[in-house]
Amino acid sequence: MTQTFNCPNCGAAIEYSGAGRTMKCQYCSTVVQVPEELWREQETQQTVTQWKKYVMIFLIITVVLPTCLSLFGVLAGLFGAVIGFLAPVFAVFVQFFVH
Ligand SMILES: [Zn+2]
Repeated sequence: MTQTFNCPNCGAAIEYSGAGRTMKCQYCSTVVQVPEELWREQETQQTVTQWKKYVMIFLIITVVLPTCLSLFGVLAGLFGAVIGFLAPVFAVFVQFFVH
């Protein structure tokens, strides 16, 4: 979403880059102050974006990571159970055919 404002010197439309509170006019090279509502809105959006990022990190740490770890634990437990079941079978098998 690009926002524009008019150069106070030459009246040309300046496209706000989304960073900083001053910009250079492309047409008359005047350094102009970005209207307060533009950078204020931009900073609010950045704050919201950062806030969303922290919520995502929080969710990953509290929900996704434990879920993955518990799934991994279940798989490891199943693997251990299968090994525990197969080991005696294998031992009996080996005794039958080796001796
Ligand atoms: Zn200008």
